[in-house]
Amino acid sequence: MNYYPKTIRDAIRSISKLPGIGEKTAERLALHILRTPKAEAERLARSILELKEKTLLCQQCFGLSDAPQCGVCSNAGRNRQQLCVVEQPSDMVSVEKSGAFSGVYLVLGGTLSPMDGIGPGELRIRELVSRIEEGNIREIILATSTTVEGESTAAYLAETLKRYPVKVSRIASGVPIGGDLKYVDQVTLKRAMEGRRDVTE
Ligand code: ZN
Repeated sequence: MNYYPKTIRDAIRSISKLPGIGEKTAERLALHILRTPKAEAERLARSILELKEKTLLCQQCFGLSDAPQCGVCSNAGRNRQQLCVVEQPSDMVSVEKSGAFSGVYLVLGGTLSPMDGIGPGELRIRELVSRIEEGNIREIILATSTTVEGESTAAYLAETLKRYPVKVSRIASGVPIGGDLKYVDQVTLKRAMEGRRDVTE
């Protein structure tokens, strides 16, 4: 790497910090950017900065957004009687990609994990309850992952939500045990959503 001037060495070092990119790939990418027209390199640099500066969390569902309300929450065509609870913003994207859901969301911000000091107070359960108290929601779909933490979070929520007049359902076990929604294919996720079962009884 010392064969290169510092500018290129710095670029290689930064690029190689990206996940899945080794030093060889980083070297190839840095040289590629160097050969690229200036306008294109500027576009790449700008989009990285804007990604950091302009991506927000939606005020309503806490999904990724570039406006106070995300594309789903601001879409008048979505069914506001169904609310899907997911762990992370990327899980909301996975459910959206599956095309199996036309309601709205709430991103919890993680799962209960006593070992890591994450209790109910660290998740957006208060926000979930106030969404329910607004009164429009008929069904809550618990789409946390099928890991131990995801299952215990779903069980905790099912218990907590018993006192509200809403149907609570859990996505079907079509999602493999230990399944993180990010890695579940869209067809499986669609089936899991369609085969969800009522956990209110
Ligand atoms: Zn939203």
